[in-house]
Amino acid sequence: MPGVDVKLVLRSTRVVTPEGTRPAAVLVSGGTIEAVLPYDAEVPAGARLEDVGDHAVLPGLVDTHVHVNDPGRTEWEGFWTATRAAAAGGITTLLDMPLNSLPPTTTAEHLRIKQEVARPKAHIDVGFWGGALPDNVKDLRPLHDAGVFGFKCFLSPSGVDEFPELDQEQLARSLAEIAGFGGLLIVHAEDPHELASAPQRGGGKYADFLASRPRDAENQAIENLIAQAKRLNARVHVLHLSSSDALGTIAAARREGVRVTVESCPHFLTLTAEEVPDGATEFKCCPPIREASNQDALWAGLADGTIDCIVSDHSPSTADLKTPDFATAWGGISSLQLGLPAIWTEARRRGHTLDDVARWMSTAPARLAGLEQKGAVEAGRDADFAVLDAEATFTVDPAELQHRNRVTAYAGKTLHGVVRSTWLRGTRIAADGVLADPTGRLLERNH
Ligand SMILES: [Zn+2]
Repeated sequence: MPGVDVKLVLRSTRVVTPEGTRPAAVLVSGGTIEAVLPYDAEVPAGARLEDVGDHAVLPGLVDTHVHVNDPGRTEWEGFWTATRAAAAGGITTLLDMPLNSLPPTTTAEHLRIKQEVARPKAHIDVGFWGGALPDNVKDLRPLHDAGVFGFKCFLSPSGVDEFPELDQEQLARSLAEIAGFGGLLIVHAEDPHELASAPQRGGGKYADFLASRPRDAENQAIENLIAQAKRLNARVHVLHLSSSDALGTIAAARREGVRVTVESCPHFLTLTAEEVPDGATEFKCCPPIREASNQDALWAGLADGTIDCIVSDHSPSTADLKTPDFATAWGGISSLQLGLPAIWTEARRRGHTLDDVARWMSTAPARLAGLEQKGAVEAGRDADFAVLDAEATFTVDPAELQHRNRVTAYAGKTLHGVVRSTWLRGTRIAADGVLADPTGRLLERNH
């Protein structure tokens, strides 16, 4: 590949490293970070110098929760558009969720089909989660051996017929199988019985939708999941936590040694139920965006380390499926390109730093997936960077997004943090919104 062996020095007054943010010169060779040198270190002979001034150099973001929907529902998104949007947003690695594509990633053969579709379209590095269904326990080990990063399951209906949920007995069976080979189960945790007993009024009122997906559904499902993980000594991860009520349960389980990690998402951390206009189903997702007081508690959970990661749960559809009735509209928020500025805007307002953002959006998700070569600006890791003009602001114009469908809950928001460039293994793949040809690789779990 041309240029790949050329040495590069990326210099900034604000390089976000595991030891803090400082002026530094990052020496890159063969796509890998060779050293993080003092800012005024001599540039080696033959190396190219890129000085980005006061723009911050973050580790490329790792988004472990993306619904690419390709093949099968490519009109909703797709590897070409999703990875371009990700690159434009400072993300250098994404892990694709096993559902909403056809086929879903529930057998090793299906994984191969998805990999073939993704390979020529990947502008960033792409890996895959497998799916745990009621009837595919025998497929879990082969999927694990084929390199998926773990397995996703639902405990309540997923929204698509080909990806049914697990009941508690099926959950126990799948989890025992996965624990048997040291795998990871990632869980959409809403309890179906709690959902069934909540008022289902339908219609365009956000308050009615919120009441139909109560916190207790999450709280109960998480309690059950933790009990199963404890009994089986299994490793589990709670996807898209919205209910802050569950934080105490999770923290207590960890203190007891239960292997449970947790993510939340930009929409839960930056948008509130109070601001959702009636009929505005671009804000619909499950679990739902809750009240401002809940959001404050989620930020406290990030600050004290109970919540490990922030990932997008980018789950778009075509605009026609976002009907004005919250009960029937497609549930999913589109945010892949916007997660970094959305979170940075709220994080800085709450007194957090870019070091925190890098930990939540790059280091922790990389660790969740066992991606040892990703997630930090330090020697030995892949030279993946997001260069952020942290003080600049912009107003979200859906027409400028690279997502296939430009419906987004962030339209019209003014955000801090403009991604000036994104680098993958030492090559600039996005610069001020202009994308290079695809050079992403398909990733497999480190064996
Ligand atoms: Zn999701």
